[in-house]
Amino acid sequence: MKDFGKYDCIVVGGGPVGAVAARSAARQGAKVLLVERDETPAYPYRCTGIVSPRCLEEAELGGGVVLRNIRGGIIHAPNGRSLRIESKDTRALVIDRRLFHLKLLEMAQESGAEFISRSRVVGLDNQWVLIKRNGLPYRAKTKVIIGADGPKSQVAKWAKLPPPNQLLLGLQATARYEPKRGDFIEVYFDQYLAPGFFAWVVPAEEGIARVGLATYRMKGASSLLKRLMDKLNLKPLRINAGLIPIGPRSRTVEKGVMVVGDAAAQAKPTSGGGLYTGIVAAKIAGQVAANHALAPQDSNGLMIYEKRWREKLGHELSLGIALRRLFGHLSNHELNLIFAILDNKALLNTISTYGDIDYPSSIIKALLQQPKEWLRIWRGLNSKFASSSTPLKPAA
Ligand SMILES: Cc1cc2nc3c(=O)[nH]c(=O)nc-3n(C[C@H](O)[C@H](O)[C@H](O)COP(=O)(O)OP(=O)(O)OC[C@H]3O[C@@H](n4cnc5c(N)ncnc54)[C@H](O)[C@@H]3O)c2cc1C
Repeated sequence: MKDFGKYDCIVVGGGPVGAVAARSAARQGAKVLLVERDETPAYPYRCTGIVSPRCLEEAELGGGVVLRNIRGGIIHAPNGRSLRIESKDTRALVIDRRLFHLKLLEMAQESGAEFISRSRVVGLDNQWVLIKRNGLPYRAKTKVIIGADGPKSQVAKWAKLPPPNQLLLGLQATARYEPKRGDFIEVYFDQYLAPGFFAWVVPAEEGIARVGLATYRMKGASSLLKRLMDKLNLKPLRINAGLIPIGPRSRTVEKGVMVVGDAAAQAKPTSGGGLYTGIVAAKIAGQVAANHALAPQDSNGLMIYEKRWREKLGHELSLGIALRRLFGHLSNHELNLIFAILDNKALLNTISTYGDIDYPSSIIKALLQQPKEWLRIWRGLNSKFASSSTPLKPAA
C-alpha cells in the first residue's frame, strides 16, 4: 500500500459542505486533503438549488451563481385552494448548482487544501485513512477526519455514530416550463402527490423548471413523480433522485472524527434544504479541526464542534422536527382545513413579512407577538376540527 502523506485534517467527500470544511481548516493554517469519490462536479445534481441570500454570504459567493431572485410563492392545498405569499424583497435565490459547487472547490484549493477526485475512502484505521485511487490502495495519515460524505455516510458508520432521525427520498425532473411569474416558486401539499412532505416547481434557467417532490415513501416513489408531472402536464427532460437525511444524528463527534452536512443529517426538516445549515456547520468543523491539529494543548478537543454547531442550528432543527411531526402526517382533508384557516390577509402578511427559509421559528416568534392572531388560529382549529369527522392526530 502506497503512502499518500501526512495531513492535519482529511475531509472525506468533496460536495459543497466538504469543500467549505476544507477551506475553513486550510485558512487556519492546517495541511488539508479533500478526497472525492466521483469525477466532480457530478451531474445531474440531486438538488433544486434554492438557497437564501444568507447562504451565499456564508459560502462567500457573489451573484455570479444566481439564476433567479425569488420574491414569493404560491402554496397549493389538495383541494386546489392556493395561498399567495409575496414579499417586496428577494427571499430566496435559485442558483446554478454546478457553478456553486465548482466555485467552492476552487476556493478550497486557493486556500491551500489539496483536492483529489476519483478517489474513494474505503476505511479508517486509527489515524490512517485508506483510499482507493485508480484501482490502487493508498493510505494517508491525519490528526482529524471530517466526514462530509453525504446521506449514506460511511465515515459515520465506521465511527459508530447513531443514525439520523429520518431519511426522505427526493425526486426531481427538469422540464420545459414558462412560469407566469419568474420570481415565484410553487409548492403543493398533497398526500397523494408527495406523502409526508411536499412537491415543488421552481423556475431555473430560461424556459426550464426544476420539478420535484420529497417523501418518506421509498417504494414506488418514481410513480409519484410521474403523477406530479402528469398533473402539471409537463414532460421530464432529465430525472434524478437523492436521499435527504433529516433530524441530526444525536452525536456527530467520535475519537478524531467529526461528521458534517448530510453526513450529520443537518438538513432543515421543514424543507429538506441542507446547503445553508451544512455550510454553517462546515465552517465550524474546519476551524475546530485546525485548532485541534495545530495546537492540541490549547484546544478543547473536537467536542467543541458538537457544542458550537448545535448552539447555532440545534434549536431551529429541533423545531423543524416538531413541525414535521405535527403536520407531516395530516390527511388531505386536514390539510384543506388548515389552508382554510391560513387563508387570511393578516396571517399571510405576517408570513410574507417574517418568513425566513433558514429560520422557520421567525414566523412563530412574529405570531407570538400578535396574540389576536393566535386566538384566531386556535378558534379556527377548534371549530374546523370539531365540526370535522377527522380528529387532528399527531404524526406517527
Ligand atoms: C431532490 C433534492 C433537492 C434538494 N434541494 C435543495 C435545495 O433546493 N436547497 C438546499 O439547500 N438543499 C437541497 N437539497 C439538499 C442538498 O442537496 C444537500 O443537503 C447538500 O448537497 C449536502 O451537501 P454535502 O456536501 O453534505 O453532501 P453531498 O452533496 O451528498 O456530497 C457528498 C460527497 O461525498 C462523496 N463521497 C461519498 N462517499 C465517499 C467516499 N467513501 N470517499 C470519497 N468521497 C465520497 C460523494 O461523491 C459526494 O460528492 C436537495 C436534495 C435533494 C435530494
